[in-house]
Amino acid sequence: MNPWIAKTVILVGTVMMIVIRAPHGRRSRRVKVARSYKTPLETLLLVLAWVGFLVPVIWVVSPAFSFAEYPLRSGPLVAGLACLAIGLWLFYRSHADLGTNWSVTLELRQDHRLISKGVYRAIRHPMYSALTLYSVGQALVIPNWVAGFSNVIALAVLVALRLGAEEKMMAEQFGDEYAEYSARTKRFVPGIW
Ligand code: SAH
Repeated sequence: MNPWIAKTVILVGTVMMIVIRAPHGRRSRRVKVARSYKTPLETLLLVLAWVGFLVPVIWVVSPAFSFAEYPLRSGPLVAGLACLAIGLWLFYRSHADLGTNWSVTLELRQDHRLISKGVYRAIRHPMYSALTLYSVGQALVIPNWVAGFSNVIALAVLVALRLGAEEKMMAEQFGDEYAEYSARTKRFVPGIW
C-alpha cells in the first residue's frame, strides 16, 4: 500500500491532538498553580514526550528515517485507525472532564477538585490510556520501526516514571476522598488494570 495513506492519517491525527489540547493549554495558563510538584525528572519526561510526538511528524515530512521503512499492510492500518479514533475520543473526553484541573505536569491548581465522574468514573488515568491507545495506533499505522515506536516508548517511560508521584500528590491533597476513589477504580482499563 502507498505509505502516503499512513502519512495522511498521522498528519490528521496530529492536528486533531493539537486542536483538542490547544484550548486547555491556553486556559490552563490563566488558572493559578496552587502547588507545583514539578521536578527536573518531570521536565525531562516532558521533553521526551515532545520528541516522541514530533518524530512521526518528521517521518511524514522528511526521508530522515527511510532506512527503517517496511511495507504498509491493510490489517495493521485498519487496527491502527481504530486505536487512533478511540484514543482521540478518550483524549477529548478526559480533557473535557478534567477541565481547569488539568496540568501538563504535576501541579495542583487553585480550587483543585478531585474529578471522579465521566471517563474518570471507572479509571483514574483515562488521559494516559488515551495517549497510550493513540501511540499504539501510530505504531500500527506507521510502517517505520523508528517513527512507529517513538511515541509508545516515550509514553511508556513517562507514565512509568510519573504515575507513582502523581498518585502520591493526589493522595496528599485529597486524603480519604482519593483513597476511596482509588479503592473503587482501576488505573487504565475499567475493571481490569
Ligand atoms: N493522570 C490523569 C491526568 C493527567 S493530567 C489521566 O491520565 O487522566 C495530570 C494532572 O491532572 C495532574 O497534575 C493532576 O493535577 C491532575 N489530575 C489527575 N487526576 C485527577 C483527578 N482525578 N481529578 C482532578 N485532577 C486530576
